[in-house]
Amino acid sequence: MATIDGLPPLRDVITQHGLSARKSLGQNFLLDLNLTAKIARQAGDLSNCDVLEIGPGPGGLTRGLLAEGARKVLAIEKDHRCLAPLAEIAAAYPDRLEVIEGDALDIDPLAYLTPPIRIAANLPYNVGTELLVRWLTPPQWPPFWQSLTLMFQREVAERIVAQPGSKAYGRLALLASWRADARIVISLPPEAFTPAPKVSSAVVHLTALPEPRYPADPKVLERVVAKAFNQRRKMLRAALKGLAPDLEDRLIASGITPTDRAETVGLEQFCALARNITAG
Ligand code: SAM
Repeated sequence: MATIDGLPPLRDVITQHGLSARKSLGQNFLLDLNLTAKIARQAGDLSNCDVLEIGPGPGGLTRGLLAEGARKVLAIEKDHRCLAPLAEIAAAYPDRLEVIEGDALDIDPLAYLTPPIRIAANLPYNVGTELLVRWLTPPQWPPFWQSLTLMFQREVAERIVAQPGSKAYGRLALLASWRADARIVISLPPEAFTPAPKVSSAVVHLTALPEPRYPADPKVLERVVAKAFNQRRKMLRAALKGLAPDLEDRLIASGITPTDRAETVGLEQFCALARNITAG
């Protein structure tokens, strides 16, 4: 059957290259090119952008990103077996797809990309959160990326967009909203993937803010938030004990009731507390 880009259907690619999915690599493939094009469209206007994709696998989303007009896609893939099918895509889109074989945790993509940069990926679940935290805590403002369009397990996606007062609210939501506007843009059942995972998934789209939502020293903010949520059931005056002298006064000055628990406190108050601590 013909496809929109003239390349073989993904099911044939998988059979031809013997790409049986490996659990250890978090391999749950998207084989519907209409769906991968839909995800690529969520990434915004790609025509003037370089796109970083982690874990292209057999290339379903890669093909979506290229068909949607990405100036260039840099794809980092750990599984050597995927290189041959990715080379076929590169040949169909001359000079627009660069593939690096390796572990995304070990590779600095900036050496290969020209701004503006967007990131789009159906992330391997075992390194997805770690990569997201790295992208949300770079040293520079604004971050090196304009947007992130990322597939996660539904439960992780909900933690990224969570609001105070909800069970999912915590460090990930605070880091994300400090740096970006985040929302869930697509929800997917397990059957959308081959093989089907046990849980549902969702695509989260994050748009970088030009500057922090509220001022705060990133290191201090991260320390405060990590400590507050390390013992999320405790009142903050206990959970944050030892963080600074006169803790209760500082909490009150930051608009936080010392008996509050971390999960009810918003980003604005956490940033105020971080500033108060930085001020000494
Ligand atoms: N993008 C493809 C799709 O949507 O069909 C595959 C997605 S699959 C969930 C995750 C992909 O990430 C796999 O191809 C896997 O081999 C790759 N992968 C796993 N760990 C990786 C790592 N540390 N660095 C780079 N790629 C990795």
